[in-house]
Amino acid sequence: MKELVVNSLKLYYRTRRGTVRAVDEISFKLGRGETLSIVGESGCGKSSTAYALMRILPRNVKELSGSVKLDGEELLDMDEETFRKKIRWKRISMVFQGAMNALNPVMKIGYQIAEPLMVHEGMDKSEALKAAAKVLKDVLLPEDVMEKYQHQLSGGMKQRVVIAMAIIMNPDIVILDEPTSALDVIVQANLMNLLKKLKWERGLSYIFITHDLSLASELSDRLAVMYAGKMVEIGTAEDIYKDPLHPYTNLLISSVPTLRSEKTLKHIPGSPPDLVNPPQGCRFMPRCPYAKKVCNEAPTMIRMEDGRYVMCHLYG
Ligand code: SF4
Repeated sequence: MKELVVNSLKLYYRTRRGTVRAVDEISFKLGRGETLSIVGESGCGKSSTAYALMRILPRNVKELSGSVKLDGEELLDMDEETFRKKIRWKRISMVFQGAMNALNPVMKIGYQIAEPLMVHEGMDKSEALKAAAKVLKDVLLPEDVMEKYQHQLSGGMKQRVVIAMAIIMNPDIVILDEPTSALDVIVQANLMNLLKKLKWERGLSYIFITHDLSLASELSDRLAVMYAGKMVEIGTAEDIYKDPLHPYTNLLISSVPTLRSEKTLKHIPGSPPDLVNPPQGCRFMPRCPYAKKVCNEAPTMIRMEDGRYVMCHLYG
């Protein structure tokens, strides 16, 4: 893979209360071997972005539009059968939020890891089980896990199994949706090390979805900050942590405690807007300490001199 290019991606849901604009014209790129972390508060559209990329959508989708190109090939126009055969799991796979709790309780772990190879690749069972044992080793689990059931494993082991399932087809891109959220900090740290190892060994690209900025800083090359369905800042993780441009990014970073400094923690006043009826202008305006008259008009994404992108009237 060379790159994934997402342009003006929209995902709207139909609900009784009206149209929910979960993902509203977002654009970003992901290169080979790169990790892009998408950060933001709950309900800002992070997971919906992932579902749009995987084309795993609920029935109440009102609109999925824009462009998602993988090495120049448009994925949104592709018919479902071709997408299932060529792209989903083979080129883009995903570790779903809470997926470790969805392992089949009556099926041995080895078989669950091997199953996609039998279903999608038509591999025979013994060959697929051999491949599963190899991937199990890659995620640093002992071979006897092949014969176990999910209730015999710890949370950390189950999450490694889920990662093994996501990489068994050798995808280019793995989307990780809050992969460590249910784990304690030690297990979290081990899992982050495993993700780094796999990325390095397999040349994987990650889209890492998290609300935890300190975790994102561990793994990311670039950060994309999402607010109320919009991407409001994109840049290298280093630039954004050192000098956040968007007021929302600034407040997010200022609200994270650090061990090494005695900074005063800030909080973000108010709560995110209702995506059925978001503010007309800048969506962050009701909570922004720098809001001014011009913010009644929606800002556009602008490219800064250092290559960063920001959506705010304070710039440009
Ligand atoms: Fe704040 Fe205005 Fe920038 Fe929105 S556009 S983040 S309201 S300064």
